[in-house]
Amino acid sequence: MERSTIVRVHEGLHARPATRFVKLAKSFESDVEIVKDGKAASAKSSVKLMLLGVKEDQEVTVRATGADAIEAVEALIGYLENPLSGLDGDAAAQSDAAPAVAESAPAAPVDAPEPAAMADGTLRGIAASEGVAIGPAFTHFPPEIRAEGRELAAGEIPAEIERLRKAIAAVQRRMDKALAENSLSAGDRGIIAALKDIAADETLTGEAETLVVRGVDAVSAVISATSKIASEFGGVDDRYLNARADDVHAVGRQICLALLGQDDVSLENIPQGAILIADDIGAWDLARAPLKRIGGVVCGHGGATSHIAIIARSHGIPAVLGLGERVNALREAREVALDGDAGHVIADPDDAVRADFARRVGEAAKERNALTAFRDVTPKLADGTVIEVAANIGSLEEIDAALEAGAMGVGLFRTELLFMRHMHLPSEDMQAETYSALARAFAPHPVIVRTLDIGGDKPIAGIEFPEEENPFLGWRGIRMCLDRPDIFKRQLRALLRAAVHGNVKVMLPMVSEMDEVRRTKVLIAECAAELNAEGVPHAMFPLGVMIETPAAVLIAPALAREVDFFSIGTNDLTQYVMAADRLNPTVAKLNDVANPAVMSAIEMTARAGVEAGIMVGMCGEAAGRPDLIPAFIRMGLTELSMSPASIPRAKKVIADLKAAGG
Ligand code: PEP
Ligand code: MG
Repeated sequence: MERSTIVRVHEGLHARPATRFVKLAKSFESDVEIVKDGKAASAKSSVKLMLLGVKEDQEVTVRATGADAIEAVEALIGYLENPLSGLDGDAAAQSDAAPAVAESAPAAPVDAPEPAAMADGTLRGIAASEGVAIGPAFTHFPPEIRAEGRELAAGEIPAEIERLRKAIAAVQRRMDKALAENSLSAGDRGIIAALKDIAADETLTGEAETLVVRGVDAVSAVISATSKIASEFGGVDDRYLNARADDVHAVGRQICLALLGQDDVSLENIPQGAILIADDIGAWDLARAPLKRIGGVVCGHGGATSHIAIIARSHGIPAVLGLGERVNALREAREVALDGDAGHVIADPDDAVRADFARRVGEAAKERNALTAFRDVTPKLADGTVIEVAANIGSLEEIDAALEAGAMGVGLFRTELLFMRHMHLPSEDMQAETYSALARAFAPHPVIVRTLDIGGDKPIAGIEFPEEENPFLGWRGIRMCLDRPDIFKRQLRALLRAAVHGNVKVMLPMVSEMDEVRRTKVLIAECAAELNAEGVPHAMFPLGVMIETPAAVLIAPALAREVDFFSIGTNDLTQYVMAADRLNPTVAKLNDVANPAVMSAIEMTARAGVEAGIMVGMCGEAAGRPDLIPAFIRMGLTELSMSPASIPRAKKVIADLKAAGG
């Protein structure tokens, strides 16, 4: 049984989506392979799968043989065709999959050109994590583990295999123990989980065992197996996968240390504010190091997408990586200054450089503190109007990050993930519990729950979608919900029940005509009447619509009389106004919210809402853009909802606007 498809998983089968794909494949008995460009790899090995380098928009074939081959192919094809696969906030996925932080950490900077030394002695490497730092050097050059080069006698082989298996199991146990620690951030947990995955993958363990069977001692076997796999990662035409070579080496080192009964050199005693200098730091070591004390990181190895870079960025530690051999020049340094924006490192700086760095460090700290101070600010305009800066989230796991960032409620709760992460449609009780928990967490602030916005492009178990030529123009969002009152009413009933527990508002996606709102209101009334008759506690919620189709913009004055609020979905509005697919990189230039056509659609919407006296908000990506926020505020928007990380800066932009008399 086999089927081909075009991969829609966002950014392809990279770390986390690959791990989850493998997990799904392993849930079937059948042998499953994925084939790309004539090359086949087992779908049950994350290392093999990552090495295949499956990218978004590429064609692949899934092939299965065995009792449950049909189910396996269906499920895996469904996974590959889902852009959000592997990216949801599923707690299980966070703990047993690869780096969550890759998606949530600040974007990777572009690698600098070849590292070099500049005339004034400044070393130039890859600017891997922004920020400047100056501090005492803390060098970390653990001794290299050398191959033992022992030839085994036939009789020694079974015991050596046993020794190897025990060492691998010990490393996995240590990683499990680290994963169980509460102090780990979700991102670091994801990275350790990815390393554990490599340690458990039969590609590495199998290769090492094969060598031992041929009479090679276990340490030498692990060194040569890791080198072979690492060089395969190094040879793939993909920078992210190239960086996985370092992960393979890190895992190999841990297995060797376990075989030798040694502990690795620890980073535990690093002094406050020190600059960590190393040829290479295993992500495993760095994730467990006292990161709060580390002022900066300088490494011979690593690139902008390596795990060291990801950890550094997510913890706000400036880092310059990829110095190569030049890092050895820092072995004797007493003090180091580094610029993570430019990729520069200066050993033992003179007074002028030291003063310059001290000033820049001070300014950066001031800016960070200033932003922190905005977390608890309620941004107001000069006339006293409060601008609600809210969070876009898709799961309950994201609540803490949103609250910590200072979210004044939720401006968009995407309910799709709730439907997509289960094998069946979620029950009314389960939905009611989820929406209630959300409402309770943010009360008295509002939480705006968007009703199911699913279409042929994001299939879910339990709903049959027809094959469509243009899924983005097809049976999705409110269109599908109105045709499936069984699904829609279950969600509306759950929302009416949750409204008892906090400030719940509900909004409809993809609205393009008035009738869709009217028909929804009839269903809401029916649900309320049923709950009444059943004696189930419930409350009516304000009903709004997303403005994300040109049709909705053009009928905004009439819609505004029918609903309680508007929320402008700029992601879809931009693609529909500009007729430029939001997923197609070839037309990315056209897909620009700042294009006058889109800005004018936003303005028309705002005017209609303001004239009707209803709240106008925005929940598309543009809501967090500091350069556009002033224009949106001037148009009359009073709510901006964005990813939590953007909240403090948005609050500052609004406060600055007030200070400027806006
Ligand atoms: C939008 O279209 O702007 C929006 C917020 O919805 P989504 O990105 O989920 O389609
Ligand atoms: Mg949308």
